[in-house]
Amino acid sequence: MARVFNFSAGPAMLPAEVLEQAREEMLDWNGSGMCVAEMSHRGKEFMSIAAQAEADLRELMAIPANYKVLFLQGGASSQFAMVPMNLLRGGSKADYLLTGSWGKKAIKEAKRYCEVNTAFDASAESGKFTFAPSQEQLNLSADAAFVHYTPNETIEGVEFDYVPEVGDKPLVADFSSTILSRPVDVSKYGVIYAGAQKNIGPAGLTICIVRDDLIGQPVDGTPTMFDYKTHADADSMYNTPPTYAWYLAGLVFQWLKDKGGIPAMAEINQRKAVKLYAAIDGSDFYANPVAVANRSWMNVPFTLADSELDATFLAEAKEAGLTTLKGHRSVGGMRASIYNAMPEEGVDALVAFMAEFEKKHG
Ligand code: PMP
Repeated sequence: MARVFNFSAGPAMLPAEVLEQAREEMLDWNGSGMCVAEMSHRGKEFMSIAAQAEADLRELMAIPANYKVLFLQGGASSQFAMVPMNLLRGGSKADYLLTGSWGKKAIKEAKRYCEVNTAFDASAESGKFTFAPSQEQLNLSADAAFVHYTPNETIEGVEFDYVPEVGDKPLVADFSSTILSRPVDVSKYGVIYAGAQKNIGPAGLTICIVRDDLIGQPVDGTPTMFDYKTHADADSMYNTPPTYAWYLAGLVFQWLKDKGGIPAMAEINQRKAVKLYAAIDGSDFYANPVAVANRSWMNVPFTLADSELDATFLAEAKEAGLTTLKGHRSVGGMRASIYNAMPEEGVDALVAFMAEFEKKHG
């Protein structure tokens, strides 16, 4: 079967070139006579793969030397707990900006460890998440140990168009669905974390970029595996890391470098998003409720004028090789996730399909 354009929010498409290279190296990585999945994580072959992946990520994101890059497990969901456990550092309060479903989960988990001040709740008026607040709207507290936000909310497709200014507090960001999609000034953050399965590689790997000075003062009772220091001191090899996912992420980093790095990807990503939103806005048949300035480049939710047609849309799209377009149940309608590995032709094909579908059923 030909490869489809898979619009899944995650696990999501990987670049075909990366999968082909992995296939070539499957039985014998670089003359080792082994698949990477069969290697000891402490052997020199895997250590070189791991170090190269970290070096490439550092180069791609221009990560300053005073940040550790951790290759962890447990998903972004584990970071919802690890962040307060490691960053409270004697404090008892944290500020959270709430712009979507994932932020809500992060807050729920943080409340197990501290008082949470919701510095802005974007759903307060309408019950829905359709925009991000401006800097002036943030109600930050003087005694918060850190400030957490979700630059891109994957389910609602709401993306911040600026980096919140939080003074000398560490800014913590769940970058799961927007990391590597556009340039980021890492130095503005205390912690950046992301599950890999959207824009980095396969599921099972979680990347954490943590400023040095925030490591080493976990709350009492923090499990060893939840202490950033455990992983920072051991180069993410305290226990067996997700070796094959780490290797595939490394291949993705090399692919990104070959493509011209993050600025080049950002140009393509913006073009893809602009095309898709233009198709939605240019028709009365499709709609997206998000404030224009906050529309996500990565996750594009949209509804059809008649939700009775949703099932037909999904079935006909699948026939056309466009899969996994069903929106999250909490939002309804469709969602097209168009991460780095979604080729521009995939978006062109979706836009053409949408016009055809409207002609036929609108
Ligand atoms: N945060 C965001 C923004 C996400 O999109 C997701 C996954 N969809 C998560 C957290 C949860 O990630 P994981 O499944 O890796 O725990």
